[in-house]
Amino acid sequence: MKKISITLLPIIFFVFFFIPVYCSYGQLKMAVPFPVQVYHGNDQTSIVYELHLLDSLKRPVKFISFTISADNKVLLQDSIYENLPKKKDTNRYVKYIWINVDKVPKLLTHKITYKIDGKIYSFSKDVEVNDVPVISIGLPVKKGIWYMEAGPSPINDHRNYTTATKSQYDSIQNGYKLGYCNQRFAIDFDKVWEDGLFNKNKGTQNTDYYSYLEDLIAVADGIVVGVIDSLPDNPNPPEIEEFKKPSDGTGNLVLLDIGNGIIANYAHCVAYSIKVHVGDTLKKGDFIAKIGNSGNSTGPHLHFHLSKPDYTKLERTDIMGMFIAAEGVSFVFDDYIEYHVVSGKFADNVEKKDEPFILNQPKKVRNTMPYNKDFIGVKD
Ligand SMILES: [Zn+2]
Repeated sequence: MKKISITLLPIIFFVFFFIPVYCSYGQLKMAVPFPVQVYHGNDQTSIVYELHLLDSLKRPVKFISFTISADNKVLLQDSIYENLPKKKDTNRYVKYIWINVDKVPKLLTHKITYKIDGKIYSFSKDVEVNDVPVISIGLPVKKGIWYMEAGPSPINDHRNYTTATKSQYDSIQNGYKLGYCNQRFAIDFDKVWEDGLFNKNKGTQNTDYYSYLEDLIAVADGIVVGVIDSLPDNPNPPEIEEFKKPSDGTGNLVLLDIGNGIIANYAHCVAYSIKVHVGDTLKKGDFIAKIGNSGNSTGPHLHFHLSKPDYTKLERTDIMGMFIAAEGVSFVFDDYIEYHVVSGKFADNVEKKDEPFILNQPKKVRNTMPYNKDFIGVKD
C-alpha cells in the first residue's frame, strides 16, 4: 500500500472537508417547511405548500423566476414571492404555492433563478409528495346555511400568512424553516339568513348576527388539550377592541386533539360558553361552545382549522404555542350541501345588493373541502 506523504495531508483535508462547505456557503437555500398538502375540492384538486428561501450570507435576493414541473410538464412559472422578515433579519423569503392539478404528482421539480448583487444564479431541487390519507371530519356547526369566508383558496389572509420565527436549519433539506403557516386551510364560518345577510338591523350588536350563540360541536372524537375562556366579546361590530396582548387575537379558544398529532382549532367563542375542559374526552358531535366575537374579530363567526403543532419546539401546556407554532393540515368534511350558483345581495357581495338572494343547484357532496366564498348547507 502506498503511503500518503505527510505533507499532502493538509491538502487532502482541505479538499475533503473545506471545499464542500465552501461550495454550499453563500448560496440560496430552500426548504419546504411542511409536507405538500392536497386540497380535495368537489371539482378541483390542488397541491398547496410553501418554499422558504434564504441566502446563507443573508444578502438581499431578487427572484427572477420560479418554475415548478412534474412528469415533464410545467405546472407553474412566475416570479411572485413575499418577504418574511424577523426583526432586523429582513432578507428572508416565502413563496406560497397553490397549483390545480389533474392528478397529484409524486415528485415536483423546482428551478429557481435569482439575482444577488447583480449576478444571476439558478438552482434546481426536487420535492417528493407523500400520499397521506385524507382526514375526513364532521362540520363544526349545526344546521343552516353557512358562508365560507376567507376559506381555502390561493388568495386570502388565512392562506398567505406565516408567523415568522428565527431561522431553523434543517440538515436533511439543507434549507431553513422561517416560520409557521398554521391557518393554511382555515375557514371563517358565517351563518346566513334567507335574505342572504349575516345580520339583521344595523349589525352593530353581536345579537344582530345569525351566527351569534350558535352551537359549536366536536368534528371528531378527541381529547380537549387547550381552553381559553375569559375574553370578552367585542361589543360593537365591526369595531375590534384593542388587545391587551397579541395572543388574545384568537379570542376564546378550544383545541381538540383528534389523533395523529392533529388539532381542531375553534376560535372567537363567547366568554364562559365553553363547556369542555382540558383532558375531557369528546365524541364526534358533542357540544363544545357557542360562537362569539372575541379576539381579532369584526363580527360573530367561527374561525376553524386543523393543524399540527410543532411539539419539538413547545410544551403541551402552551395553548397559544399550540395554536401558533403549528402547520395547517388539509381535511375534508364528511358531507354537506354545496350551492353552486349564487345571485343577489348578501353581506359579502355589495355590487349586487339590489338583486334578490338566490341559492341554486343544491348538490350533496361527500368527502370534500369547501372553497373560499362557498355557501354550504348543513343538516341538523
Ligand atoms: Zn379566521
